[in-house]
This record gives sequence, C-alpha cells and structure tokens, in this order.
Amino acid sequence: MPDPLVIATWKFGEKAVATALPMLQAGKPALDAALAGAQTVEDDPEVDSVGFGGIPNAQGVVQLDACVMEGKRLDCGGVAGVEHVKHVAALARRVMEKTDHVLLVGLGAQQFAVQQGFPLEPLVTPESLRKWDEARKKQKARSSAPMKRRKGDLVPPGTFPSDSHDTVTVLALDRSGSLAGVCTTSGLALKLPGRVGDSPLIGSGLYVDDTAGAAGATGVGEEIIRIHASAFIVEAMRAGKSPQEACEAAVQLAIAVALRRGKHLARVAFLALDPKGRFGAACTKGTAFPFAVGRKGKVELLEAKELGLE
Ligand code: ASP
Repeated sequence: MPDPLVIATWKFGEKAVATALPMLQAGKPALDAALAGAQTVEDDPEVDSVGFGGIPNAQGVVQLDACVMEGKRLDCGGVAGVEHVKHVAALARRVMEKTDHVLLVGLGAQQFAVQQGFPLEPLVTPESLRKWDEARKKQKARSSAPMKRRKGDLVPPGTFPSDSHDTVTVLALDRSGSLAGVCTTSGLALKLPGRVGDSPLIGSGLYVDDTAGAAGATGVGEEIIRIHASAFIVEAMRAGKSPQEACEAAVQLAIAVALRRGKHLARVAFLALDPKGRFGAACTKGTAFPFAVGRKGKVELLEAKELGLE
C-alpha cells in the first residue's frame, strides 16, 4: 500500500494539509482527512476566498460553493450559492450521504443545512467588508478606464469583476489506497448573485476515481467549467499520463480554447494525485500557484509549473 499523502491548493493549503496528514497517518479515510483539512480553511477569517470571511458578491452577500467526492464508489455531493452556512464542504458531504441527489443550490441547500443541524451564521467580517468595498472601487475605476494589454495577452483582459478569488481544493490518499477530494470557495469576489463556479460541480472543480486518480482546480471557474477540467485530468491519467503531464495537458487545453475564442487567457490552476501517490500541478503563466504537500510526516510548499502561449 502507498504511504498516505495529501495535497492542497495555495499557501493556505498548508493549514489544510497539516490537519489532514496526521489523520491519514492514523489510518482515517481520505474523505474524513480532506474534509477536516478544508474546514480549517473555511474557519479562517483571514482567508478571504473561502468560507467565513470570504469576499461578498455584487450585492454584499457571501454565497459559498463546495463539493466532495470519494474514489471507491464515486460517491459525491455538492452545494452552490449557499448563504449563512460556514461549513459548506461538510454540507456537501451530507448531500452525498443523506440524499439521493448530487447537487443542491441556494435556498434549498440552506433549508437542507438547517434540517441537518447546521447553524445559520453571518459570514462577513469587518475585514471582508473592507476588501469588498475596495474591490468595488477598483471595479468602478476599471470600468471607466480601458484595460491595458499585458505581455502575452491575446486580446485585452476580459471583464471579470475582480481578481480576488481562490479555492481550497484538498486531495488525499489514505492507508487503504483510496482517494478522496474536497473543494470549497466563496467564488469570485463581486460575482453576480446566483453565479455558480466550477467548485461545486463534479467533474469541473473536482473529480476522484480510485481506478485512475484525483484532480482539482482553482482559478476562473467559467474557464474551468468550459473544459470540464478535473474530469479531463483524471481521464488523461487513466489513458496513461502522469499527474504532472495530465495537469499540463489541461492548462494547454485552456490555452487552446482561449485562442480559439479569441479571449484573454484567464488564470486557471490544477492539482492531481494518482493511486500510487504521484502528484502534479500546473497553472497558466503569471498565476504563481503554490500548493501544499503533506507526506511522511512533513508539510512543504511547492510551486506549480507555469505554462503560457510560447
Ligand atoms: N474557481 C473558483 C470560482 O470560480 C475561484 C478560484 O478558485 O479562484 O468560483
């Protein structure tokens, strides 16, 4: 059996990995460990793109997206556009375990949370409101001044309301050799109310299959959904690519699609882990995507390979 291993997106992923790794070493299932790890980031008010303290949408409301998946039976669940529930990844797990459905959204998801005993609580903090206000001012300034083309841009940058977004995606391999993943985010700051990103969508933000591997995404959800990135990466591993090659293939696909559409290449980043414990990560040029790895009792932060047009 492979040694347990866990990887997670961004610098804040270190916290998730530091929580998940000892659980995996103690023999806990991959999903329990990945979920506990992701929850530490949801709880952290300083992480302004996940859970409590996430930057609100265009109307000043925090709407959260999350999903979970386990690789043995392909059990999965997701929630999208959920207000006032902090632990949306745990809620996604309840959708998986307590219903016959895969995805619940909005008010229905919130009502289900209440039925399941989740507290309804405020998710904004003074700091997240301050950042929200700043982002709104920047957005206003951007809409009145034409955007400059950056080096390597195909066309001028698009109209995404803000660069402020990130997701914690945690992929874990447990002692039994089984994989699981969790993905949780507040999505794009200033997004339109009701906007759903890739993160709660099985196959886009996350996909896990013990017979091939696990993959997760972060970055502009619209571009990730368009290429069904996580399922694409898992299928590339099934076809024989290493996790690193599969992540790079997904970034190349995102680039090819941007070229085909004549669009500015939005930031996307991918992580993958296979049942042997091999992992990989890649992102679009300029994204600077650190990711955390936990193995053999140690947590380290690595940089993903950046791929651009040339
Ligand atoms: N993928 C997330 C979304 O589009 C945001 C991010 O990970 O940066 O909602």
